[in-house]
Amino acid sequence: MSFSKLANSIGASVTLKLNSEAARMRAAGDPVIHLGGGEPKSLAPGAAIAAGISMLKTGEIRYTPAAGTPAMRDAIIAYTEKFYGRKVERTNVMASAGAKQAIMVALLALVDPGDEVVFPVPYWVSYPDMTRLAGGVPVPVPAADSSFQPTLDEMTAAITSRTRVVLLNSPNNPSGKVFDGDWLRGLVRYCEERDINVMMDDIYHRLDFDGRKAVHCYDCTDRSVDDAKLVVLNGVSKQYAMTGFRIGWAVGPQDLIKAMANIQSHQSGGPCSLSQAAAVAAIEGAQGSVGELRKVLERARDELMNLLGEIPGLKADTPEGTFYCFADFRAFDTDSTRLAARLLEKVQVVTVPGIEFGMEGFLRLSYCGPLEDVREGARRIKWLLDENGGPELRAGEKVFTR
Ligand code: PMP
Ligand code: GLU
Repeated sequence: MSFSKLANSIGASVTLKLNSEAARMRAAGDPVIHLGGGEPKSLAPGAAIAAGISMLKTGEIRYTPAAGTPAMRDAIIAYTEKFYGRKVERTNVMASAGAKQAIMVALLALVDPGDEVVFPVPYWVSYPDMTRLAGGVPVPVPAADSSFQPTLDEMTAAITSRTRVVLLNSPNNPSGKVFDGDWLRGLVRYCEERDINVMMDDIYHRLDFDGRKAVHCYDCTDRSVDDAKLVVLNGVSKQYAMTGFRIGWAVGPQDLIKAMANIQSHQSGGPCSLSQAAAVAAIEGAQGSVGELRKVLERARDELMNLLGEIPGLKADTPEGTFYCFADFRAFDTDSTRLAARLLEKVQVVTVPGIEFGMEGFLRLSYCGPLEDVREGARRIKWLLDENGGPELRAGEKVFTR
């Protein structure tokens, strides 16, 4: 068969591909350590599970409005008021099948062919392909000093008359960085003055560490939600450990949300009704699990940083949020794909090559798995990298076998 130019220009999400590969290796009995994953391993909140079960028992599992059930939209409204200090209406919010779909639908609603979508490097793996799916042109902006946050001047220098969207993510995947508040304020104002839309991907909301609170974009504007050219994307995947439920949402100006809901109504319809019921219960129920998850992640981060600190030559900034560490392996190998393949082949540790996030010589290490895996993964990496590049192994030889 032959495929469209679009299909031919898009590859599979590397992070999702690695999840499948790690699961396949584990099922085959390989003692693989998965530091590539992007989902917390704690359980969904009890209230969410109970709400899903009780709805399932009714047998009435129906279509919902394209923008989500009234209860779901009310939960998003309550969340927005509680965490962003903004009162919004049902017409300002839309639920989707994960933040991923909310981001995609927002891009489809905003971007015309050839429009540019600007985002900092390192960026989340899907942003370039999502931009292309919407017909846009991805414009990644690297920081000259590898600081994971381009300066305001570097960001604004990348903005042209074709720029339609600036897409930001803080706490950041993959860097673990929480963007500086003054920087965010400056950028939001700059975009406001030029009528450029800011899409704020907040999927790691509430997963910022050491008592910090990431400045959010509504802190950066005096305009009302309807007047600001801001759209916030969030969801239950990370903060409530509910990745498989596939519920995300968008908050933004009514006209944009209407356009997005129109697109979604043809593309997929409203998200799964069971999952919406579970998400409502998670948002409206006890919030203790979020703090507990944050503590577990902080502890895992601390252990990982201590262990990485024992590897001479490896450089890693302490993550300020998320569950990723973006570590600099350039002293060992400047080709991140080759290094990740070597780690997988020799010591069965899954990592994500930095090049997938736009930065060569780095690897993304996730610490959202069991603490024992984080320790064992770091121990194996150290073992392989010790002694100026690790012990000589014959081709195909594995160090850790079943
Ligand atoms: N944005 C970022 C930065 C992510 O890491 C993810 C990971 N899944 C998403 C969006 C999408 O999240 P989901 O679709 O699971 O809500
Ligand atoms: N966002 C996660 C990650 O970056 C999950 C995988 C995905 O949705 O692509 O690993």
